[in-house]
Amino acid sequence: MNVRRRWTAAATTAILISAALSHPGPATAAPTAPAPITLTATETALVRVQLRDQAQLDRLVAGGADLANRPRARDGRILADLVLSGAQLTELTAQGATAVQIVQRAGDGTRHFAESVRAAQARTAAGLRAPATSQRTTAATAVDTLQVQQAYWWTTGGQAFVQAQVATTATDDPDVEITVSWRTADGATGSFPLYRFEDSGEYQYHYNLPQPVPSRPVQLTATSSLGGASRVVTPTLWPNATPPPLPAGYQKDFIDAYLTPVDIQARIKRLARQYRDLVDVIDLPNKTQGYRRSAAAYLGDPAVAAVVVESVRFGDQSMNGVQVRTVDPGRRNRPLTVGYRDRVLTVSLATDTAGKTVSTTDEVAAAINARQANRFRATVEDGSAGLPMPVAGPARLDDGLQGTEVPAKPWTVQALRLGVHRDGSRVGVLAYSQEHAREWATPLVTLEFAERMLANARTDPATRELLEQVDIFVIPTVNPDGANYSFNDFNFQRKNLVNHCTGSARDPKNRNSWGVDVNRNYTVGSYFDGYVGASANCLSGTYAGTAELSEAESSNVIALAKAHTNIKFAMNVHSYGGYFMWPPGAYRADGRITLPRPSIDESTLFLNSARRIVGAIAQERGTVTWPSQTGPVADVLYSAAGNSADQLYYELGIFAWDFEVGNDRWNPTTGEWEGVGFQPPFDEAHGESQEYAGGLVEMVRVARDYAAAQAAEG
Ligand SMILES: [Zn+2]
Repeated sequence: MNVRRRWTAAATTAILISAALSHPGPATAAPTAPAPITLTATETALVRVQLRDQAQLDRLVAGGADLANRPRARDGRILADLVLSGAQLTELTAQGATAVQIVQRAGDGTRHFAESVRAAQARTAAGLRAPATSQRTTAATAVDTLQVQQAYWWTTGGQAFVQAQVATTATDDPDVEITVSWRTADGATGSFPLYRFEDSGEYQYHYNLPQPVPSRPVQLTATSSLGGASRVVTPTLWPNATPPPLPAGYQKDFIDAYLTPVDIQARIKRLARQYRDLVDVIDLPNKTQGYRRSAAAYLGDPAVAAVVVESVRFGDQSMNGVQVRTVDPGRRNRPLTVGYRDRVLTVSLATDTAGKTVSTTDEVAAAINARQANRFRATVEDGSAGLPMPVAGPARLDDGLQGTEVPAKPWTVQALRLGVHRDGSRVGVLAYSQEHAREWATPLVTLEFAERMLANARTDPATRELLEQVDIFVIPTVNPDGANYSFNDFNFQRKNLVNHCTGSARDPKNRNSWGVDVNRNYTVGSYFDGYVGASANCLSGTYAGTAELSEAESSNVIALAKAHTNIKFAMNVHSYGGYFMWPPGAYRADGRITLPRPSIDESTLFLNSARRIVGAIAQERGTVTWPSQTGPVADVLYSAAGNSADQLYYELGIFAWDFEVGNDRWNPTTGEWEGVGFQPPFDEAHGESQEYAGGLVEMVRVARDYAAAQAAEG
């Protein structure tokens, strides 16, 4: 996470003043304030929060906060999506933050999953397929000059929007206010303020979220509080690229519920059986840990004095149910001893000359580690250091895993390979999803894409031709262990299930914070190389792991790409927020030095391809990815040290993009863009799968066109 981005409230004061002036006269009854958003202390939720200031964001990031999205400006203030407990929200509120939207409560994902499965079963029982989604579609002397760097307009759901990016020459003046005025063809006019955007303490430009306009804007100008004005420009249609229309009879909509890793495995198997001539299933070389954890228990009372005792092996390896206890030997002058018999670990406490037990928590933990190191490890509970060890137990060790239908063994991650010629002779495309466990909509996107290509190959000549020309690789779930944990134990799980923590960080109370961020574990521009946006803290949401490619999940993606050197294009599918991005994805903290920028030619290819793919996404239900969220990761989202796209691009020469599916939805009633979250009601996830699968089909066309152009150049 980039801690140096900065949004300042340049325009806020002016807006408040002008609003006060334009409503003179006696105060009328105050409008009913919306009910404040609260959580119970132990509840966890994904919350859109308006932060007090940049310092508050910096403190959150430094503390390892689980930021779900790039913080954005709203009315000059910082808006961030955070996974928070009720206690954390109360603390933030006390420090001046305001919760503006509960994007998702912890239980919502489970409910949305169950609802999606029930609805799918009902449709199957009725002999119906999932329903096809319908088309939802100045007089003072100027001391600065303004340049409109971007001005785009588009229509989504029948509503026109405009977005502008404007730079002032008064770059050092944080108080410059910039206002954009627009006019439509039929003469309607309006205006909106822009907000100053700094990065690494340096002024970049002014911008705002997309603003609704009654119809196509034909004129746009910007003026500043210093008297500067821009030239009049005509906003450009975004993305202004239309994919070929779907032919009659084109088959789509193969997703009718959320899919767990077990479901995904079954779907891969079914596709391989059904389309034998077009599919290979590739078992990736590195098995994951599996849905497994060591078994642990508190020996003693964590509120008073306790030692955490944990099995070295996983709980399912006959360690669940093992017991641990401390006993008073009942005699004077006894030493501290440790014994293990009949699945019971017994610590006999030392006694003094009066027969009173005298062992401390530290001594008990050290004795277990010294004498039973092959079976157990023990750590003093945080806050219990040096305290007298009570007589306690027996306590039962348990791995705490709730999933009952998940095989407890190492998992083989699989890829689908689709095409007529699966021999490396055709240009290759790789689509991979769910590096982050909680992003449940993302495998729906890649599986819908795969099945569209296969189902239509027999009936649609254009699809057949794509499969003739392109070799397609799909990894629907890169991180199945984390996904199983997300479905069964903790919805907001982002990382994998490997616990590299040591010492008191292994306390079971941290169980929802363990794991490695798979998309921070790659080798290029990594945390280990000094890049920003990953953490060495094993409890952080962006923990980079113990070394580059320390994890099976990341190693699998790279192994597949290296084994198939014809792969020239890749899409890393994440959620949520509605982004379309490419390298560079990381920079160093000092001076914001990014990984090398692509050449002019390659940048052009990235942008032109992006416009085509954004156009294809919009074809489904009118969702338009904003121009301000289309571009290099480091510019439009945040620095993400050690992400997969950067390794694919810089090391393997692959044009590597990232999707964040799940665009904000416009709420015309409130006039706000609303976040959809990681596990929205299934209707929304289904919509995302349909529109972004269309985007992946367009990526295949991009690859085909690229290969044809290369061949023509000879
Ligand atoms: Zn993600």
